[in-house]
Order: sequence, then C-alpha cells, then structure tokens
Amino acid sequence: MARGEVMRAIWNLIGVLKPLWVSARNLLRRPVTVMYPRDSRHIPERIRGLKIGLMSDESGNPRCTACMACARICPARVIEVEGERVGGRMRPKRFTVNLGSCIFCGLCAQACPADAIAMIRNPGWAAMSREELVLSLEELLEIGSKEGPSWQIGSRIRGDVGG
Ligand code: SF4
Ligand code: SF4
Repeated sequence: MARGEVMRAIWNLIGVLKPLWVSARNLLRRPVTVMYPRDSRHIPERIRGLKIGLMSDESGNPRCTACMACARICPARVIEVEGERVGGRMRPKRFTVNLGSCIFCGLCAQACPADAIAMIRNPGWAAMSREELVLSLEELLEIGSKEGPSWQIGSRIRGDVGG
C-alpha cells in the first residue's frame, strides 16, 4: 500500500473514532437540562426579567410620583404614564408597560428617583395573548407587592446604596 493511501486510511479512521469518542464521553456526563417546572435552575440576583413591577411604600401607596422619567428613558417606548394630583402629591392615574415590546434593559428602574419601578426576578411567566402582555397600574402594583424587586432597582443600580 502506498504511503499516501496509508495516511488517508488513518485520517478516515480518526474521522470515525472522534465522534464515537464524543458520544461515549457524553454518555457519562450529567444532563445539562432540568425537569422544569419540577426542578428549576438557579436564577441570578441581577436578572432583568421577566416582569416589571411597581413598588408601594409602607402605607401601601404607590411610590411612583408620575415624574415620567422611566417613560422618557425607555428605548422601546413601552411605558405610558398619566399622573394626577391627590392631596398635594402627584401619583399615577394610569400606568401601563407593554412587556411584549420591552427589551428588559432595566433603564426604567435605573432612572426612577423613587425606586418605584423595578425589574422582577421571575423568569417563569407566559401570556396567552399580546393584550395580556400590556400590564396595567393595578397589575404592576400587584406584581411589585407579591413578587418584590430583584436586585435591579434604581438606587442599587446607580450605586446610591450598597449591595
Ligand atoms: S426594561 Fe427597558 S425596554 Fe423595558 S420598560 Fe424598562 S426601559 Fe423600557
Ligand atoms: S416609576 Fe419612577 S420614574 Fe416612572 S413615573 Fe413613577 S416615579 Fe417617575
């Protein structure tokens, strides 16, 4: 057998053995998938999603002062705020976030001077229609009070407080 043919045969053999070796190695590995929802992966503290919430103060009133900083900075233009004056203080009358077009950049939370809007550490959420992705003031406040903010809240992102 000529030298060239021997080399070609060796390369062909390597070509057959290499994928077999990869398959054999993976047979002994632990699976990289998890049996969701029975098991779930560790969710990083600084995750920006999959929801946004509005926070309330100790008395249960929205912290939001309808300053519109979040709506102005939102690159996707998915926040709409309408304010009203109640008892000498501005508060939101209408507040919607369209999560269907949100890019989860966290800029709204970063810009909020009152820590009123925050990213939520909850990746397990789905909606059945586009309309359900438009969250109202009431829904946002409920998410904020039930699920709480992730690490992604304005004063922390800006470094005003430690953590
Ligand atoms: S996370 Fe970004 S895109 Fe989504 S609402 Fe906030 S600023 Fe807009
Ligand atoms: S959530 Fe914050 S930034 Fe947005 S309108 Fe309310 S106070 Fe202003």
